[in-house]
Amino acid sequence: MRITVVGAGLAGVLLGWRLRGLRPDVQLTLVTGPPRPDATGSSGGLVRAFEPAPSNAELAAESMAELVASPVLRRWSAYREIGSTYLLRGVADAGALRRVENVLPGSVALLDQPALTSGLPFRQLDRDVVGVAERRAGFLSPRRLRDRVLADLRRGGARFHAAPARRIAPDGSVHTGDGSTVAGDVTVVAAGAWTPALLTASGLPVSGLRTKQIQYTRFTVDLPGFGAFVDETTGLYGRPAGTGTFLFGLPCDNWNESPEALALDRALVTRVARRVRRQFGVDPVVGDSTASLDCYVDEGGLRLRPAGATGHIYTFTGGSGGAAKTALAASRRAALALRA
Ligand SMILES: Cc1cc2nc3c(=O)[nH]c(=O)nc-3n(C[C@H](O)[C@H](O)[C@H](O)COP(=O)(O)OP(=O)(O)OC[C@H]3O[C@@H](n4cnc5c(N)ncnc54)[C@H](O)[C@@H]3O)c2cc1C
Repeated sequence: MRITVVGAGLAGVLLGWRLRGLRPDVQLTLVTGPPRPDATGSSGGLVRAFEPAPSNAELAAESMAELVASPVLRRWSAYREIGSTYLLRGVADAGALRRVENVLPGSVALLDQPALTSGLPFRQLDRDVVGVAERRAGFLSPRRLRDRVLADLRRGGARFHAAPARRIAPDGSVHTGDGSTVAGDVTVVAAGAWTPALLTASGLPVSGLRTKQIQYTRFTVDLPGFGAFVDETTGLYGRPAGTGTFLFGLPCDNWNESPEALALDRALVTRVARRVRRQFGVDPVVGDSTASLDCYVDEGGLRLRPAGATGHIYTFTGGSGGAAKTALAASRRAALALRA
């Protein structure tokens, strides 16, 4: 069986790596295109096991459990275990907490308001806000993990095609920018934010996949000992980024941009600074910002999905701003599904 994966972001390379592990007999080709800025290279890399969205809860917990249990993955991804706090309104879903406790016993705890505002630097929280604290969580470098997995695939004999895919034919063969054709039985498009355009160019349905901008800014700010956090109630998220600096971001509302037309949303940087001031009672100094696009989908996040009806073409994308924390488990599931 010949499987072609289009795209060498975190999704594509992990899928290739899983396939190699599960089916060494598969002839694997990665159509990578030239190196360029992508979601994997820009990602903040926050990872945790607790995930309130039911569609991603299992994937996040499984991925975190595999990461902490694997010295190789921890090293390849430069994983930093600094803990994570997730703020939400009302009551944390008991099932989601149990799922984390099952795979990482002793890692997760519920925090009430006094714990959030005395032990942690949160200020001005609404009365119904609670926290989920995780010990086995933190951040990693998706770019480094991708590069290490790519190197391993090269050592393992996978084939590489450095020209970009231009069109996928109904039989799964891939026509590339250098005029050649990569023949295969199955092709998986894992081209992140470029996926909708490639599907359209191939006459395939886009099936709800679309792009959304994500950006964060590095601030000089004093929050010593504070780990990664996501505040679902305000949208603010962040993590330390070296002594005296912190990355902070808020959701961005730029949908359906082309990766080639990406521009920094400066008004958003100002809103983030304002929110940080309010939330932590500090005066942050604005540093550099990072902006990129990810491929979003309404349901399910990073998954293998059929594209068209021929049975030869799939997509493996839809990270929706969160696939650094689900990609390990999602790629294993996708590879198992392809093996079947
Ligand atoms: C700014 C930012 C911050 C993020 N922070 C977090 C976080 O803190 N925690 C978290 O869990 N997730 C985070 N994410 C989400 C996560 O990083 C992404 O979901 C994940 O990296 C997406 O990987 P991907 O492989 O699907 O896409 P990409 O990394 O974009 O890779 C797609 C690849 O396909 C290639 N490609 C495109 N077109 C073609 C073609 N025609 N032929 C061949 N190759 C092609 C591209 O060059 C690219 O390398 C963040 C994302 C962004 C953008």
